Amino acid sequence: MTIADTITSFKSSLPKQVTLVAVSKTKPMEAIMEAYRSGHRVFGENKVQEMTAKWEVLPKDIQWHMIGHLQRNKVKYIAPYVHLIHAVDSIKLLQEIDKQAEKNNRVIQCLLQIKIAEEESKFGLSETDALELLESKELKSLSHVSIKGLMGMATFTDDHVQIAKEFQSLQQLFNRLKNDYGFEYLSMGMSGDFEIALKFGSNMIRVGSALFGERNYD
Ligand SMILES: *Cc1c(COP(=O)(O)O)cnc(C)c1O
Repeated sequence: MTIADTITSFKSSLPKQVTLVAVSKTKPMEAIMEAYRSGHRVFGENKVQEMTAKWEVLPKDIQWHMIGHLQRNKVKYIAPYVHLIHAVDSIKLLQEIDKQAEKNNRVIQCLLQIKIAEEESKFGLSETDALELLESKELKSLSHVSIKGLMGMATFTDDHVQIAKEFQSLQQLFNRLKNDYGFEYLSMGMSGDFEIALKFGSNMIRVGSALFGERNYD
């Protein structure tokens, strides 16, 4: 199957309210253009330099999602165009995003990354730290960022019970907060676990290899 056919059939299998972020990291411009020609506009990357290089040459109606861990000193490169930053995990990062967004006359949409996996390596805030951040006066003073929801990554495992438990905990937190904070997006689920994520209310899945094929490097 071509990339265009794969994306089209993948999307037709998803509930309407679910946004598919096609994760194009490490994939060439041509692969993105194939997906683009099928009508897809939402792409995710995890490296600032790679995403910016692609943004510079590809059609300007693409919505670029930064899904990877973001360093403060690199925010300035994506601030002119990024559509949604998924993995925000500190007030310091939000302050930098706010500053760069203001310079570009924009409000940048962000998600808070919550640590739900047992693995040590995964980034993210604890529930307590997320609540504290959301209530902080530092956040309330920022007018060029908008927190639109939560993002999480499950443990990399074949144990579906474990993955389900982790996604369920994030769904419960999302449901507790969404009305108070006007949340819209619950970003969880990748190629290996998006079906489980959808069962637990995900409305934004980040899928790479299931659409574009395996990556050679990460
Ligand atoms: C690479 C990546 C994905 C997509 O992974 P696949 O297994 O290829 O679907 C999703 N989310 C994040 C944060 C990633 O870095």
